[in-house]
Amino acid sequence: MYAIEAKNLNKIYKSSGGEPPKHALKDINLTVEEGRFFALLGPNGAGKSTFINILAGLVLKTSGHAYVYNHDIEKNMMQARRAIGIVPQELNLDPFFSPEEILDVQAGLYGVPKKQRRTKELLALVGLEDKAKAYTRSLSGGMLRRLLVAKAMVHNPKILVLDEPTAGVDVELRHMLWEQMKRLNKEEGTTIILTTHYLEEAQELCDEIAIIDQGQLIMKDRKENLMRNMGNKEILVSFDEPPQKIPQSVKPYFHTQESDFYIFRYQGGEAQSGIIIHGLIDSGLKIQSIQIREARLEDIFIDLTRKNKELP
Ligand code: ADP
Ligand code: MG
Repeated sequence: MYAIEAKNLNKIYKSSGGEPPKHALKDINLTVEEGRFFALLGPNGAGKSTFINILAGLVLKTSGHAYVYNHDIEKNMMQARRAIGIVPQELNLDPFFSPEEILDVQAGLYGVPKKQRRTKELLALVGLEDKAKAYTRSLSGGMLRRLLVAKAMVHNPKILVLDEPTAGVDVELRHMLWEQMKRLNKEEGTTIILTTHYLEEAQELCDEIAIIDQGQLIMKDRKENLMRNMGNKEILVSFDEPPQKIPQSVKPYFHTQESDFYIFRYQGGEAQSGIIIHGLIDSGLKIQSIQIREARLEDIFIDLTRKNKELP
């Protein structure tokens, strides 16, 4: 069962104020299985919010289809909306309502009967129980973000989508939000989809990752596969004297240079680190230092988005 399915989804924003039209999503085909903790990763302007806002019904798609639990987001809008809770990137809350009122109004909109409302429970979940009756305009940015999370959950959605949930949120709060999302996913089985341009977040939380860049989906895979397939170790070597050129025997492994360090990549097995080190020594180079590190998602990401730019 797919929690989310997008088929050939396109969004072209019409030209406005002298700006040309913007093709923000280009033939996106993407599925997210039920129960996943899924990250949609991409740089600013990639199209992440556009994708989320289409699912939320805030932006109209130009062509293609999108489904939430098999409900077409346009043809079966009500069913689709009931299955999904969205935490938008923008903090769009009415400043004159209290958190309690905001949750109540939202529950009313979704037709949740008074007896089944979980206002107190949700406020406690996001650590705002003592702010239940405060003016929302007196809350900090981090508190507003948490209130938005609670608001997205009033109708008990099976999918929770968070658009840049920790942007502008301090470290402590970020970890608290992470813990709550993990718990929801593990204990309640809620499918969680988050967008982020913050790689550590995807790496820490998610079991599946899609990368989007300039409106195109450039890859989607389980996190372990992604890390494994892209060369999961790096060896950093510095020399007494910088080499004139990279020796032929280790060229296939050479990745890049960062200040004094020459970085080689290889797939796991220790034998290959031996080949690299011997190759360097045998060509007469004098090694000053060696470090080995796991490739980071960040490097993979930079690699992929660079390749995407080089495409015609
Ligand atoms: P992301 O969330 O990945 O940063 P967005 O989906 O917000 O990216 O934006 C994707 C592209 O679409 C960007 O180039 C952005 O400037 C453009 N865009 C977003 N919203 C609008 C809009 N309402 N009108 C015109 N262009 C837009
Ligand atoms: Mg965005």
